[in-house]
Amino acid sequence: MADVIIVGGGTAGCVIASRLHQRKPSLSITLLEAGPDPKNHAHVKNPAEAALLHFSDLDWKYFTAPQKHLDGKPRYNCAIKGLGGGTVINTGGWIRGDALDYDGWAREVNDRRWSYDGLLPYFKRSEKHFDADADPSQHGFDGPMHTASVSASGRKFPLRDIVLELWKHTGVDQIPDANNGHPQGITELVENWRDGKRQIASDVYPLDGVDVRTDTLVKRISINSHKVAEGVELANGEKLVVKPGGQVILTAGAYRTPQLLMLSGIGEPSHLSQHGIRPIVELPEVGKNLHDHLMLFRYWKLRHPESGLALGSPDFSGPNYEKGGPVDWLVTTPIPAEPLKRAIEKDEGPIPEDHALLRGPRSHLEMNLLYAVFASETVGLNIPLDGSSIMTYYMGCLPTSRGSITLSSDDPTAQPVIDPNYYATETDKHVMREGFRMHTRLMLETPEGKDLVQREHTPPGFPSLDADATDEEIDARIKLGGSTVFHPGGTATMGKVVDASLNVYGVKNLRVADASVIPQPLASHYQMIVYAIAEQAVDIILSENFAN
Ligand SMILES: Cc1cc2nc3c(=O)[nH]c(=O)nc-3n(C[C@H](O)[C@H](O)[C@H](O)COP(=O)(O)OP(=O)(O)OC[C@H]3O[C@@H](n4cnc5c(N)ncnc54)[C@H](O)[C@@H]3O)c2cc1C
Repeated sequence: MADVIIVGGGTAGCVIASRLHQRKPSLSITLLEAGPDPKNHAHVKNPAEAALLHFSDLDWKYFTAPQKHLDGKPRYNCAIKGLGGGTVINTGGWIRGDALDYDGWAREVNDRRWSYDGLLPYFKRSEKHFDADADPSQHGFDGPMHTASVSASGRKFPLRDIVLELWKHTGVDQIPDANNGHPQGITELVENWRDGKRQIASDVYPLDGVDVRTDTLVKRISINSHKVAEGVELANGEKLVVKPGGQVILTAGAYRTPQLLMLSGIGEPSHLSQHGIRPIVELPEVGKNLHDHLMLFRYWKLRHPESGLALGSPDFSGPNYEKGGPVDWLVTTPIPAEPLKRAIEKDEGPIPEDHALLRGPRSHLEMNLLYAVFASETVGLNIPLDGSSIMTYYMGCLPTSRGSITLSSDDPTAQPVIDPNYYATETDKHVMREGFRMHTRLMLETPEGKDLVQREHTPPGFPSLDADATDEEIDARIKLGGSTVFHPGGTATMGKVVDASLNVYGVKNLRVADASVIPQPLASHYQMIVYAIAEQAVDIILSENFAN
């Protein structure tokens, strides 16, 4: 019998297991992970090989339901099945986001622990910030996760200065640090590679002293007639129980955590009954509120490829290039308020000037430019990685489209139905079109852009678009190429499925503590907030359940 059973050995699960053991070694902790320990897998340590993990034995290989607003096509939404979860494949962006978003979260759940200031100690706790002279009120210097900016890693790419000038046309300034709650501006990308190597949650947060069981799929949580979580049932039929007063903590990620809740009888009763599951706790919001960031890649032919400006050219080489991605800058911008207001009103009717998405201004777009070409085949292009082209990326940071996770069956090995419902709202369409037009103007109309690129590589059958492109023309491109940034959240949302102490409503001794609890999209990349949720969860669990 364990004091704590943690279901899902991904990002959050590893942190919680490790910290609980570190802080209270007398606790017996079991961590259950469906996949293997991938530490020695061929393509894990080197972040540059992450693409080789897609569709590998470590990939759950999820496909979404057909996306109604993306021409009815499903999307491939990778997630890792292995100890370390998303940290086994993620791109290493260490991007905290905007304090305004966290403050909105805290307001929604009426609890300051989830405001930016409330989360700040936990952001700091996970971090070993690269710059020892940085503001100590904003950064941690003795946490487990090493970070590095582009220049701190020693990279100096040939296009660095010209691309900085290019980005300045967006109207935002260069800022020294975007990981201080105020990201709007142009800043060097920060990554959590350590000397160019991936830091997996299960390595960085040591699991010695934790009973780790890999290749162990959990089928459901065992809940007794008093609605107390007593343990878990595995897919192989084995049952594990927690000691009286023990805790079951769900950290199976935003796709599988709601699935496990539903398989355990927690959810919308009619949906559960449809799959032969006896409803135990009526919580219709389980699996609702799925949010995810949509992004678009665009590809550009360089005017002077002979200069060794991009990956693939034999002349694109320099000290420490392997220590991070082929990129310099991360740009976060608001967008003009009036047209945004009109778009929101198409979705919501008349809104006040201080509507949540207008107040701030909020961070609506994030973008960067990579000295490389990846994934062009997803839009029917086969651009060679020979240094002749580059790519831009942008993401809508605060989507209002909401999707769902529902059961496809009562079989725990089956993929749940993942329906992110991308691009459903006029607000999201407006933001993504705005990003598209911004990139067109930057690349084709500014002196730096004109000097840099000859033309866009447009997908076969699609016309070249200038800044006067119509909404319909832009939509066609987004419907073809719009894709996830791998940030699903919200499917066991705080305030509706769990309370602000992460307890599942209506069940004792059961918590959720992963990306599922994030109530609203954040203008960030989600590993950093998941680390912070997990770090805060440990404080909550120790103080509320194991204080003595
Ligand atoms: C390709 C990719 C690139 C990304 N890039 C970035 C980036 O650059 N920056 C960034 O900040 N974020 C990035 N992310 C997102 C980030 O990694 C995730 O937000 C984060 O890992 C989510 O953590 P989690 O603990 O909620 O879930 P996960 O880390 O996914 O962990 C869930 C774990 O639960 C296990 N599990 C599921 N069901 C069961 C079950 N029934 N029984 C037992 N175990 C189960 C899974 O196998 C998995 O290991 C990326 C993600 C992906 C996939």
